[in-house]
Amino acid sequence: MSPLKFNKTRFDAALTRQWQQLGLTSARQMTPHQWWQALSRALMELLAAQPPVPPKSAQRHVNYLSMEFLPGRLTGNNLLNLGWYNEVAAALAEHQVELNELLEEEVDPALGNGGLGRLAACYMDAMATVGQPAMGHGLNYQYGLFRQSFVAGQQHEAPDDWQRDRYPWFRHNAALDVPVGLGGKVKKRDDGSVEWRPAQQLIGQAWDLPVIGYRNGITLPLRLWQATSAQPFDLTLFNAGKFLQAEQPGIEADKLTKVLYPNDNHAQGKRLRLMQQYFQCACAVSDILRRHRLAGRALHTLPDFEVIQLNDTHPTIAIPELLRLLLDEHGLSWDDAWHITSRTFAYTNHTLMPEALERWPASLLRELLPRHLQIIKQINRQLKQQVKQRWPNDSALWHKLAVVSDGEVRMANLCVVSCFAVNGVAALHSQLVVNDLFPEYHQLWPHKFHNVTNGITPRRWLKQCNPLLSALIDDSLQVEWANDLDALEWLAPLAKKKSFRQQFRTIKQQNKLRLTVYIKRVTGIDINPDALFDVQIKRLHEYKRQHLSLLHILHCYRQLRDNPDNPDFVPRVFLFGAKAAPGYLLAKNIICAINKVAEVINNDPLVGDRLKVVFVPDYRITAAELMIPAADLSEQISTAGYEASGTGNMKLALNGALTIGTLDGANVEIAEAVGEKNIFIFGNTVDEVKALKADGYSPKKLRKHDRYLDGLLKELEKGKFSDGDRQVFAPLLESLSKQGDPWLVLADFAAYIAAQQRVEALWRDPEAWTKAAILNTAHTGRFSADRSIRDYQQRIWQAAR
Ligand SMILES: *Cc1c(COP(=O)(O)O)cnc(C)c1O
Repeated sequence: MSPLKFNKTRFDAALTRQWQQLGLTSARQMTPHQWWQALSRALMELLAAQPPVPPKSAQRHVNYLSMEFLPGRLTGNNLLNLGWYNEVAAALAEHQVELNELLEEEVDPALGNGGLGRLAACYMDAMATVGQPAMGHGLNYQYGLFRQSFVAGQQHEAPDDWQRDRYPWFRHNAALDVPVGLGGKVKKRDDGSVEWRPAQQLIGQAWDLPVIGYRNGITLPLRLWQATSAQPFDLTLFNAGKFLQAEQPGIEADKLTKVLYPNDNHAQGKRLRLMQQYFQCACAVSDILRRHRLAGRALHTLPDFEVIQLNDTHPTIAIPELLRLLLDEHGLSWDDAWHITSRTFAYTNHTLMPEALERWPASLLRELLPRHLQIIKQINRQLKQQVKQRWPNDSALWHKLAVVSDGEVRMANLCVVSCFAVNGVAALHSQLVVNDLFPEYHQLWPHKFHNVTNGITPRRWLKQCNPLLSALIDDSLQVEWANDLDALEWLAPLAKKKSFRQQFRTIKQQNKLRLTVYIKRVTGIDINPDALFDVQIKRLHEYKRQHLSLLHILHCYRQLRDNPDNPDFVPRVFLFGAKAAPGYLLAKNIICAINKVAEVINNDPLVGDRLKVVFVPDYRITAAELMIPAADLSEQISTAGYEASGTGNMKLALNGALTIGTLDGANVEIAEAVGEKNIFIFGNTVDEVKALKADGYSPKKLRKHDRYLDGLLKELEKGKFSDGDRQVFAPLLESLSKQGDPWLVLADFAAYIAAQQRVEALWRDPEAWTKAAILNTAHTGRFSADRSIRDYQQRIWQAAR
C-alpha cells in the first residue's frame, strides 16, 4: 500500500546501532526514554536511506513562513503516515517492548501558542500528502510554550525545556548556515549603490524535521532556524585572558531563539521579538534564493518557481529583506526588484482585532534594520502616489492607508500592498477583511482578495487520536478515507441504522473512559463517564468567552440547588483546557474563577456526580488528542466577528461532538455542512454585535432587566466561591460591569442558556443525539486540510503569475 516498504532487517540493524552507540551491551538495558530515542533515530536512518519521492512539480514551490509550528509528538504520527505502525509494534514486541508506551515518552515540541501554529503544522502534513512541493520555515526555540499548572486555582508557568538538542527527529545541515546582520549603518558605495553594514553578525543554523506525507513516500522539510554566534569567542578578548567576557557574543546570539513569546492574538512590541522575526526571515529568504540559484535559474524568474506564504504578519519583514537583497546585493533596479517581490509573496490574515495587528516603531526599525526602513519608506512613497491619484485631496484616507504613519510601520498594510494575494481563513472572516479592515485596498486591487477556509489534518485529528472510530469507519466504508475525507459522506446513511448508532455510541463511551482515567491521574478528580462531556479547549482569551461558559456553570449549580431532586437534570462534566498569556491578567483571573467555582461545586455533596468542573492543566496537542475524541459537546462561543476561523471546532465536529456556537468564523460553514438540526447556534450575529455597540450597550441595564443573571453574578461578587473574599474576581467582574462588557458576555447569556436547554433536550434522547453526532462526522470532510491546500493551489499559488 505504501511506496515506502518497511524493512525489518534494516530496522533491527538500525536499532542495534542505537544501543551500541549508547555503550550498552543489549537492548534490554535501555530505559523507556532511550527506547523512544532509539526507535525514532532508527526510523530517521531508514527514512534517509529511502529514495525520496519528489512531490508533483507542476505547482510553484511553496515556502510557508510561520513564527510558530505546533506539530505535536512526531514518532507515532510518522509511523502512522508511513504505514509502519503494526510492523514496528511487532518488531518491538520481540523485545517485550510496548510501542504505545514508548510513544508516551515523547515531549510535545510546543513551538507555537495555539491555532495559528497548529494550522501551520496541519498544512505541512497536508502539503506532503497532496504532493505540493513545499518547505516550512520557522524558529527552533529552546523553550516552547510554558508548562502550566495551578496553585490555589491560579495559573503557574514553568519553562518548557523540550530538550531540542537531543530531539531525535532533527537533522542539522551545517552546509545551510546563513549569516544574519543586525543594527549598524547604511552606506553609499562608490558606484552610488547602497550597502547595509550591520553592527552585529549572527549565524542561522538549519534544523530540519521531516514532514511525512500519508503513505505516498513524500517527505517535506520543516526547517527551523536556530541562532548562534558567528564567532563563539571574541578572540581579542580571549587572547587578553578575559575568558568570561570573551564568551559574550555567543550568549547574546543564543538568546534570540531561546524562547517563544507566549501571546496569542496580541502584539507586544518587544525588541527581541522583532529581532526573532527578522532573523527567521533573513534565514528563509537567503535559503530560498540559494535554492533558486542552485537550480540554475535567473533571478527574475523567482515568482515563476517560488511562492512565499506569510502566516499572519509575523514574517512580514521578509518582504523588505528580499527587496534589499535584489537591490543592494544583486544590483537590480527598484522597478525590477519590486516586480519580482510583489509577485512572490502572499499573505494570510488571521485577525481583525486592533490589539493583534502588528505595528513597529520606526525608530526601532531604524536602529535594528536601517536599510529595511528605507525600503519600507520607498514602498510607502510609491503607495502614496497611487492613493493620491485615486483619491485626490483625501488626507484622512491617506493617513489610514499609509504603511508608515505616526512614527509606526503597519505590518498588515505592508503585506496587502506588497503581496499578490491576501486571504482570510473562513468565508465570514474573509468578507470582514474586505469590508471592515481593507475596503479601500479592495477597491484598488480587488483581484488580490481571497478566502481559504482553514482545515485540519485528518491523519492526526481522526486516524491517530481516535483509533476506535477510525476502525469503525474502515469497516463501514472499506475505502481509504484518511486522504480523501469527503468519503465520510458515505457514513450519513448509516446514521439511520440502530446497530451502527450503537457501535458509534460505544466508541464515544470508550473514549470518555480513556479520558476519565487521564483526568483522574492528572487532577485526582473522579468524573462520571455517563455525563455529558461539555468541552471548551482553546487559548484563554476574552473574545473566546470562557467566562460565558462559567456563567452557564453557575446557572446549572443554581438549578440543582433550587430543584435538587429534578429527575430530568442532565449530568454534565465541564472540561476546560486553556493557557493564558502570562501577562494577560484578566485571562488569568478567568482561569482562577473557573477553578474556584470548580472547587466548590466538585465538593458539594448535594451535587454528587451530576456536575463536575475540571480545568485540565497544561493544554497542548497531546491533551487535545485525548479530549477531542471524548467530547460530546464542543463550545465555540466567541463574540461574533472575532474568531477568524477556529480549527478546534473542526476537530471536535469531525470526532462526533455537537457544536454549541455563535455564527462566527468557520462555525458558519460547519452549520451549513452538518445542517441546523445537528448544531446549536445562538447569540448575536456580527451585524447585531455592531448594532449593539453602536447603540451604547449597557450591561448594567441588562442586569436590571435580568434579575436571574444578576443573582448569579452577585454570588460571585459576594464571595460565595472564594470563602467570602470579594476581591478575588474583581478583574473579571469589573470587565462585565464598569468596563462595559466589551465582549457582550451578558448580552448573549439568555440565548446561550436557551441553546443549552436545546442541548439537554436532545441529550435525553440518546438515539437522536447519536444520529446527530454521526452526521457531524459524516458531513465535516470538507474541513480536511487537504481541501484547504487544494484551495490555496487553485486560488493563490498557481494563479497570479
Ligand atoms: C486546534 C488547537 C488550537 C486551536 O483551537 P481553537 O479552538 O480553534 O482556538 C489550540 N491549541 C491546540 C493545542 C490545538 O490543537
